[in-house]
Amino acid sequence: MNPEILIIGGGVIGLSIVRELHKSGVKRITVLEKGRCGEESSWAAAGMLGPQAEANEGGAFFDMTVTSREMYPQFAAELLAETGVDIELDRQGTLYLAFTDEDVDEVHKRLKWQRKVGLPVEHLSADDARRAEPFISTDVRGALLFPDDWQVENRKLLAALKSYAELNGIEIREDSPVEQLIVEDSRVIGARTPTETFYAGDTILATGAWTSLIKLGDADMPLKVEPVRGQIVAFQTAKRLFGHVIYSRRGYIVPRADGRILAGSTSENKGFEKTVTDTAADALRQMAAEIAPNLSSLAITDHWSGLRPFAMDGLPVLGAFTGIGGLTIATAQLPQRHLARTADG
Ligand SMILES: Cc1cc2nc3c(=O)[nH]c(=O)nc-3n(C[C@H](O)[C@H](O)[C@H](O)COP(=O)(O)OP(=O)(O)OC[C@H]3O[C@@H](n4cnc5c(N)ncnc54)[C@H](O)[C@@H]3O)c2cc1C
Repeated sequence: MNPEILIIGGGVIGLSIVRELHKSGVKRITVLEKGRCGEESSWAAAGMLGPQAEANEGGAFFDMTVTSREMYPQFAAELLAETGVDIELDRQGTLYLAFTDEDVDEVHKRLKWQRKVGLPVEHLSADDARRAEPFISTDVRGALLFPDDWQVENRKLLAALKSYAELNGIEIREDSPVEQLIVEDSRVIGARTPTETFYAGDTILATGAWTSLIKLGDADMPLKVEPVRGQIVAFQTAKRLFGHVIYSRRGYIVPRADGRILAGSTSENKGFEKTVTDTAADALRQMAAEIAPNLSSLAITDHWSGLRPFAMDGLPVLGAFTGIGGLTIATAQLPQRHLARTADG
């Protein structure tokens, strides 16, 4: 029997949609994933839930990200109950540090607009910031504390979502790259991989950075989503040294419960190339050392990259496809504005 819904792409977006649909009563769902579920951008990410730390201004999209963040405590608790996987929602908050005159200006601007719209944000003196995080640089001139900007262990989130699908009889077809959506009478009725054809009542594209490569019938996809490479390096410490996620205008460090510290991220237009570069590793180490000088003496224990989906207006592409029935799309993201740009970025 054909599925009611075909979901193309098994990243955090595709797998979250699976769970929501299943909970709302849709039982026959098939996921087509070109490789393995949860091994692309969603795996490479740093897991920050940081709308306040990332945004320069408010607006409809910002409001949506805040609402989404507010849903995380219940989401994490439900996933734990449903799958036994703890996604490690860490609610210690995020610090945003200022070192330069421009940083200090930025801190004041953010404090002003975020207070004005009633968001929780605290202004910390340099001493207070160092009391909150004793290992940060003595050069810090002040900070913002966003108590509600949190983090999750995104790889565990992917494991939990995949486990939900498996436990609930969702058909997951890995190694199934969709090349073309089948269109009949202005309606998508299924999808083709090189070896198989799938038919379904509705199709959802959650294909991230690769979305524009899929044919819509015989035509090119009328939607431009580009890959933006992001690299992250990791350091390992014996025990956790930092409580908060810590940003500067040049990047961020994310302390994990197991003593890893992630430092990210680059933002590079290199097409679908996922190689990691020494230039990026050096830039990320330098960025991390500005936040906490002791990090410069640690060896880099891991280094990876992922491809962010980026639509030209910098906003997500969400909802029914105009002019074509049976097709919904959920991809792309806000550009991150506070990234360390490498020389090759
Ligand atoms: C270095 C880095 C750090 C980041 N940090 C953060 C962060 O801290 N917080 C945050 O919120 N976001 C972060 N992001 C962004 C975040 O990773 C993405 O917004 C999110 O993962 C997008 O999810 P997705 O499911 O759309 O994409 P993906 O995880 O890329 O999933 C898309 C899936 O579709 C599959 N697919 C593609 N084409 C086809 C096809 N033709 N047929 C079948 N399957 C297909 C892919 O194989 C993939 O599994 C970061 C990204 C990077 C790269």
